[in-house]
Amino acid sequence: MFDWLIVGAGFAGSVLAERLASQRDERVLLIDRRPHIGGNAYDRYDDAGVLMQQYGPHIFHTNSEAVFEHLSQFTRWRPYEHRVLANVDGMLVPIPINLDTVNRLYGLSLDSNQLAEWFASRAEHCDPIKTSEDVVVSTVGRELYEKFFRGYTKKQWGVEPSQLDKSVAARVPTRLNRDDRYFGDEYQFMPLHGYTRMFERMLDHPNINVMLQTDFEELRNEVFYRRLIFTGPIDEYFNFRFGNLPYRSLRFEHVTLDKRQHQPVAVVNYPQTEAYTRVTEYKHLTGQEHPKTSLTYEFPSDAGDPYYPVPRAENAEIYKRYEKLAIAQQNVWFVGRLATYRYYNMDQVVGQALATFRRINKEIPARNSA
Ligand code: FAD
Repeated sequence: MFDWLIVGAGFAGSVLAERLASQRDERVLLIDRRPHIGGNAYDRYDDAGVLMQQYGPHIFHTNSEAVFEHLSQFTRWRPYEHRVLANVDGMLVPIPINLDTVNRLYGLSLDSNQLAEWFASRAEHCDPIKTSEDVVVSTVGRELYEKFFRGYTKKQWGVEPSQLDKSVAARVPTRLNRDDRYFGDEYQFMPLHGYTRMFERMLDHPNINVMLQTDFEELRNEVFYRRLIFTGPIDEYFNFRFGNLPYRSLRFEHVTLDKRQHQPVAVVNYPQTEAYTRVTEYKHLTGQEHPKTSLTYEFPSDAGDPYYPVPRAENAEIYKRYEKLAIAQQNVWFVGRLATYRYYNMDQVVGQALATFRRINKEIPARNSA
């Protein structure tokens, strides 16, 4: 008899498993249908011995001291500030668009004030701002929109930016200065020995049993558990009764090259050419010294594992119907990116899991409490 069955060994499931086991002394069965822990953050040494990430680049960044401190119990960190270049008109230029991007692309030598004017003279008036296209053309104008956003977004999401909610483009800011960091967060680090090691330490507790390559459906009625935490797709949990929640997927092509370095930064985006959206070179992220280097090419697709909830109003409506059912469930908690159909970063999922733990503590006395 387990106190908890937790479905999914990604951040959501693993953070909660550790809290319930260590703070409430309760027995947890943690299952995942994949052959490994860590969810999408899983990393491993490939055949050449290079540490790579199976599901594409994961960079840890947060403004939450609580989230950072929590994870710091299970890993030491490597300071890492993420920088991305975009291959545009045959040049490698910084993205998010900043002063250097415009100066290099157009052979100019503007300062920040002049760049503000330059953007203002090109920006198109949009009112109200509803779509991703509106966000970009109203900030930097149509030409930069075409060069940096339209092709990339079409590849990434399979639809025109004019069909996508404004929140998608709002994730990529535009800067008037020369700051070329991809993220502005206070804490920007990579786990020193990788994500999988961090998860191994998190789950190393006598109250936690882990079963891999095990689908919830196989166990649903086979094991005894008092409560359930589900971090898989919410529509799947309810047998798709309101239809499928659409996701965008990715096909990853991993390659190892017989040279030390392939590109100047960890990630290069391809908004104009190529079928792939971006190329990641892991050694920039991990700091590993190795005579070879490993890369991942990302090809967006409709079929495959669910990665990105598609942010459109009609999908949010379907999700709301599932959420109503979820709220009515007794002794079941839905946590994480797939179970709440939200485009959450890792730190947000950790924050959500810790908040869920606080809620559980309020609502349910621990098994061994008097
Ligand atoms: P997941 O990691 O998806 O874990 C859910 C687990 O549940 C999976 O392992 C799945 O196999 C398992 N599961 C589902 N259904 C079942 C079932 N029925 N039975 C058994 N097991 C089941 N975030 C950042 O902060 N920084 C980044 O740089 C970043 N880059 C990303 C790049 C890509 C390509 C992607 C796809 C995501 C990225 N993210 C990034 C987001 C990050 O991956 C997520 O925030 C985080 O992994 C979500 O954790 P989770 O536990 O909610 O879900």
